[in-house]
Amino acid sequence: MHIRKVTAYPLRYPEPNDRMVMRHVTLAKIETDNGLVGWGECISQWPEAALAVKTLIEQGFAPLLIGRDPTENHALYRLIKDHCWWYGDTGMATFAVSAIDIALWDLKGKALGLPIHNLLGGKLHDRLRACASTHPSKAGLDDLAQELADHAQNGYTAVKVGFGKMGEANLGTDEKRDIAYVRAVREAIGPNVDFMVDLGKKTRWDYAMGVRMSREFEQYGLRWIEDPFQPTNIEAYQHLRRSIQTQVAAGEREWTPAAYKRLIELGVADIYLADPGRIGGITAVKEVIEMTAAAHLFYNAHTWSSAINTAAAVHLTATAPNYIVFELKPLPSPLQNELVVMPITQEGGWVPVLNGPGLGIEIREEAVHKYLFDHVV
Ligand SMILES: [Mg+2]
Repeated sequence: MHIRKVTAYPLRYPEPNDRMVMRHVTLAKIETDNGLVGWGECISQWPEAALAVKTLIEQGFAPLLIGRDPTENHALYRLIKDHCWWYGDTGMATFAVSAIDIALWDLKGKALGLPIHNLLGGKLHDRLRACASTHPSKAGLDDLAQELADHAQNGYTAVKVGFGKMGEANLGTDEKRDIAYVRAVREAIGPNVDFMVDLGKKTRWDYAMGVRMSREFEQYGLRWIEDPFQPTNIEAYQHLRRSIQTQVAAGEREWTPAAYKRLIELGVADIYLADPGRIGGITAVKEVIEMTAAAHLFYNAHTWSSAINTAAAVHLTATAPNYIVFELKPLPSPLQNELVVMPITQEGGWVPVLNGPGLGIEIREEAVHKYLFDHVV
């Protein structure tokens, strides 16, 4: 068996979980001479990045991969990483590596008739605890709190909110209102649902505010506070972690396992979020799981894009001894619900681990072509 063809698809789609904002990803499709097909994805996100990744995959990596055995996926991962050494280990190159790596794991699983969690050494969990990961946009605190209570009512035992997102929520802009919001949510969801606050890019605190706000939030029992500071503000993370009793999550803006190793050594967080569509695919996230587990810390999947990314994260999380929750977008979304024959959803608060060969999902190519784009508008 050898790789016959490598194709990349930049997709643009409206995200119902983000007020129908257009989001972008790049899919990779690898085909073999005996008719197998593997799919991967990277979270390229901006339209020009999604298009740049297509060039890297089809014109940079494809000539190296064609003719090779896809079951040698680790060797091929190293091959493409070495190829892009001058422009790699960050940004576009790592997006391209991520999409190819996931597609190779999918192909290997299909070739061997095994799910990826089996190829990774075996699953520790048959189902994953679901978290509704939300970008609130409503104006009033009662409506905002009710939205999360509705998710809890639908079975979720954990909810996460991104501050500073679009819309009229204006979370992260007024200290007193933010505290009132956290209180309102805790009252609405009750004492038994985990609640996380993600500060997001637009609303990061300074150190003093981080300590002040985290201590205010502590009475409402947050499971974790995510990305309170700019990722490079290492000292603020270190000090905050020593100043509060709530756990701190970080990591989603990193690009490599080596970067996570450094953050772990510096003690910036208790929980490290890693996205297979950003840091180098399943191969790289597996390294982060091993590193965090060895350091007695937590790994949690960062996954908020297509069903391909979600599936990759399901397999990884199934093998993680140290995950907390598995995040899902609570509203149906085109690249979750149209892209695959059987969408990945929660039932009764749990996401079942996928047990089909490879990623264990079946791609609907008509959806790929429906959302394909070829230039920035
Ligand atoms: Mg986040």
